[in-house]
Amino acid sequence: MKKFDIAVVGVTGMVGRTIIQVLEEKKFQLPINNFYPMASAKSAGSTVMFNGKDYKVEELNDESFDKHIDIALFSAGGGTSMKFAPVASSKGCIVIDNSSAWRMDYKVPLVVPEVNPGAIKRNKGIIANPNCSTIQAVVVLKPLHDKYKIKRVVYSTYQAVSGAGLGGVNDLKEGTSRTFRYPIAGNCIPQIDAFVENGYTKEEMKMINETRKILDAPNMRITATTVRVPVVTGHSESINIEFENNFELEDVISTIKNTNGVVVQNGSKSFEYPMPLFCEGKNEVFVGRIRRDESVENGLNLWVVADNVRKGAATNAVQIAELLMERMK
Ligand code: NAP
Repeated sequence: MKKFDIAVVGVTGMVGRTIIQVLEEKKFQLPINNFYPMASAKSAGSTVMFNGKDYKVEELNDESFDKHIDIALFSAGGGTSMKFAPVASSKGCIVIDNSSAWRMDYKVPLVVPEVNPGAIKRNKGIIANPNCSTIQAVVVLKPLHDKYKIKRVVYSTYQAVSGAGLGGVNDLKEGTSRTFRYPIAGNCIPQIDAFVENGYTKEEMKMINETRKILDAPNMRITATTVRVPVVTGHSESINIEFENNFELEDVISTIKNTNGVVVQNGSKSFEYPMPLFCEGKNEVFVGRIRRDESVENGLNLWVVADNVRKGAATNAVQIAELLMERMK
């Protein structure tokens, strides 16, 4: 059986550390040979443990990919990916990138394995992992779009501080505002990432544009408001959908229940609904509060929660690596 040489770039960060955990949890499915942990000069020489063995963290530089590496999982920020993903792919390594650097490049597939696994075939050395808030939404939207054809989507998000990396978590725990513009403890900040010309934030435009790209629906009407809340891990989303076609609520619920990677927690009598506190550390997307939007024809409301560092980043990236290994073996 072919074994793969793997690099994790940004291994000391929030996502990089979780990639190690997910790789370890899947160690019997993933045939890994050499493992190369990489980060900036700041962490070079420190050690990380992988599958019970200590590895020295290497500084990422122009020579990092001169050795044989089949797949590199990047989560070290957009600038680093912009510079080094082409270096890696020019040496024959396939990059799975967690940053936003390559997502909207038309040559780069943007992949959620439950939604558009076939897109990986089009890769030319770089595959992009979507934004965390987009991933958990499209896993649920895809089977509903296939069945009832989505006319319009309204996203309202409640996003955890870990979405901004270790610095975001420190701001909440220490009551500081080093990563966020305002204190996040006891607060909600209706700005994630920078503002753009149309008054939206980049995070909102990522949700809109990435959803269209992944669902291959360039004209889908979508709007979004993204908000940072004082939760450590787990993004929550209210998703309001209008369909072209009518639906039976029971049919919607069973469609969502039968979707790979989704868990339905939907019981008003039993007070059952997804909450970030209980989704932390899980790889699935949790869906509840499934009900008609009675203010429009064919309208639906959903509440969707997932661990942003796992399904929103590390788990999705490792699932893409699994798909690649399947194809390359
Ligand atoms: P983080 O906790 O701040 O970690 C950043 C990582 O990048 C660290 O390992 C850091 O290494 C490394 N790094 C920084 N500059 C580097 C350079 N010049 N060369 C090599 N390594 C460098 O951030 P994070 O939350 O893990 O996010 C990482 C990426 O994933 C970002 O692009 C982010 O947008 C994306 N992402 C994050 C989430 C999430 O929920 N957190 C979800 C989806 C996508 P040092 O320790 O050496 O500085």
